Amino acid sequence: ALGNRLQGVFDRLRGRGALSESDVSDALREVRVALLEADVALPVVRDIIAKVRERAVGQEVIRSIQPGQQVVKIVHDALVEALGGGDEGARGLDLNAPSPIPILMVGLQGSGKTTTSGKIALRLKGRERKKVLLASLDVHRPAAQLQLAQLAERAEVVSLPIVAGQSPLQIAERAMDLGRRELYDVVILDTAGRLAIDDALMDEVAAVKAAVKPHETLLVVDAMTGQDSVNTARAFNERVGITGIVMTRVDGDARGGAALSMRAVTGAPIKLLGAGEKLDALEEFHPDRIANRILGMGDIVSLVERAAETIDQAEAEKLAARMQKGQFSLEDYASQLKQIGKMGSLSGIMGMLPGAQKIKQQLGDANLDQSILKRQAAIIGSMTIGERRKPEIIKASRKKRIASGSGSSVQEVNKLLKQFEDMRDMMKRMNKMGQKGLMRGGLA
Ligand code: GDP
Ligand code: MG
Repeated sequence: ALGNRLQGVFDRLRGRGALSESDVSDALREVRVALLEADVALPVVRDIIAKVRERAVGQEVIRSIQPGQQVVKIVHDALVEALGGGDEGARGLDLNAPSPIPILMVGLQGSGKTTTSGKIALRLKGRERKKVLLASLDVHRPAAQLQLAQLAERAEVVSLPIVAGQSPLQIAERAMDLGRRELYDVVILDTAGRLAIDDALMDEVAAVKAAVKPHETLLVVDAMTGQDSVNTARAFNERVGITGIVMTRVDGDARGGAALSMRAVTGAPIKLLGAGEKLDALEEFHPDRIANRILGMGDIVSLVERAAETIDQAEAEKLAARMQKGQFSLEDYASQLKQIGKMGSLSGIMGMLPGAQKIKQQLGDANLDQSILKRQAAIIGSMTIGERRKPEIIKASRKKRIASGSGSSVQEVNKLLKQFEDMRDMMKRMNKMGQKGLMRGGLA
């Protein structure tokens, strides 16, 4: 796996007192393959490797006490930088313009433009208290305008009334007119996509852009399209011009290397991530998280290191191995709860696991204390061995029995099961990322 591949190199380096130039070269060869496996485009990989090499053979590595870790950090930092880590201000939508602010959504068919339009509308309405108008310029698919109208209804924002027979340009102008007349803050214009880049699509989108002069032109790209996304981003940027990128389907098991390439090729920042089909599944872009994901490490390295400080070595290794293999039963969970209790706050540990944010929200920060660990241990303690190994069999009557056996409520039992399931899914997902690389690239 990509993670394993790098891990192997980094482990070898970790033990060393000083690094020679050839140590660094060996490591960089692996890093190069790893980045390519993560769908980072070749020219971008070359740039990054050159940058890392320059820094890695310099004084900072030779002199550091743990050179291996230093190389890991240099690679990680170079990725964060390439993902736009420095330009804080460029992240998120730019709403610094006179109302109504036009936002144009562009991209290929199925990339998630319409869904993302709905998500952005919901966010602007909720967090920013903006009055948002949604308009679909997709006259090619009969149901497209209806799809947006339905999303608008769910987000409780207004969508432009559908008028048959209008061109995309006419619809855009009607939307802006309404936006001005009824004092909307933001007008989101969702455009049609094609399955592949073609002149007709580009001309249509470019014409709308020229007429409306959107403040943001967001390219929506499916993270799962991998290397192809670079061509898409380049084409849209050259023909239409974009101000930012929204990468969707990051809830899938794509590595995220596409983000790096798109950013490098267009210079446009990744502004938002789509992480699911639901309207609230819109996330801020965090370069460090994507960098970790590309490296295939999550923050599992630091989790394991921290665990090793407080738990004995054998226990720590078992924990890491189980997490990485995605073999994590309720029995393990119960025995780890005790260990986790020793490590300090659960919320600190959860913060280190990629994707654990959701679980944290479910629990609520206030509940992340020792007492919840004890309660959860008690609930698991009231389960039969069969139930612990196969939680799927726990239906209503078993839940009642477990709740009364542990002095808790069915609600609490449900909460624990849900939390465990989320945790296991997350581990499976991390595992799947690893397996994919392993099958494609083999282990070094
Ligand atoms: P469009 O053709 O670009 O407008 O794409 P749509 O917005 O219609 O989305 C196509 C499909 O992708 C729909 O089924 C969406 O629910 C789904 N989709 C959109 N964004 C995401 C995402 O971030 N994650 C997942 N899993 N599905 C998404
Ligand atoms: Mg659409």
